[in-house]
Amino acid sequence: MLDIHNHLLFGVDDGPESIEETINLLTQAKEQGITGIVVTPHHLHPRYNNTFTEVENKINELLCNQQIKDFNIQLYPGQEIRITDKVLEDIDQHQIQGINYSKYLLIELPSNAVPHYTKNLLYEIQTKGFIPIIAHPERNKAIAQDINLLYELINNGALSQITASSLTGELGKNIQKLSIQMIEHNLIHFVASDAHHSENRPFGLSPLFTTPKLNNMESTIRGLLHNNEAMIQNKDVVKERPIEFKKSKFFGLF
Ligand code: FE
Repeated sequence: MLDIHNHLLFGVDDGPESIEETINLLTQAKEQGITGIVVTPHHLHPRYNNTFTEVENKINELLCNQQIKDFNIQLYPGQEIRITDKVLEDIDQHQIQGINYSKYLLIELPSNAVPHYTKNLLYEIQTKGFIPIIAHPERNKAIAQDINLLYELINNGALSQITASSLTGELGKNIQKLSIQMIEHNLIHFVASDAHHSENRPFGLSPLFTTPKLNNMESTIRGLLHNNEAMIQNKDVVKERPIEFKKSKFFGLF
C-alpha cells in the first residue's frame, strides 16, 4: 500500500518536529502495511516553502540514518503546492516538479474558498504538461457547501485526493457523508493519509478496511489505492466520468 500525501519530513512544515517523531510515523506506517510513501511537505504555503530539490535532499539525508533505512519503506519526493500566482513561475524554474518525477502535481486550495482564478490556473498547469490533483477537497468549506465547484474542476481535467480519516469518519459524520457522496459522483481518484503526527494526525489507511460504514466500498477504495500506484509510476489513472450534483439531492421533497 502506498501513501501519496503526508508530512513525514521533520522540521520543514507543520509535520514532525524531530527525527523521533518521523520515526514514530514510520513505525505506524509499517504497522499499517504501507510500503511506499510520497513525502509532500507544504510549498508556497503562507508559512512554508519546500522546493522539489530541497525535498529530494531531505529524503537523502533521512536515508543516511540506519534506523530509517531499516523500515524498508520506499520514500518518493513530492510537494503539497498551495495554489497561488507563483505556481507557474515555480514550475518554469523547476522549484516545482511532478510527484516522483511524474506528470502529477498535488495542489492545495485554501481551506475556506476556491479562489476565482483556480479554474484558469489549473488549466495553465495542464498546458505545461502536468495534471493537477486537488488535495482533500472535502475539507474545503466552499466545496462542502457546493460540491459542483469540485465537479467543475474535475470536469476540466483535474483529479482529486480524499483524506482517509475523512472517509473513515474520524473527522466527523458530516465530512464522512460528504466524502462518500464525492466518491459516488466520481469526483475522487486517490486516497491518502495526510499524516502529520503519529497521535494527532496519524496514518489512517488501514482503518479504511475496518470501518463498518465502508464495508460495501472495499473495491472502490482498492481502486483509489491502485491509482496511487499508477501515479508514482507516471501511468494514467482509472477514472469515471464525473457526475454533477443535482439540487434535488439537497432539497429532497421540495
Ligand atoms: Fe497536507
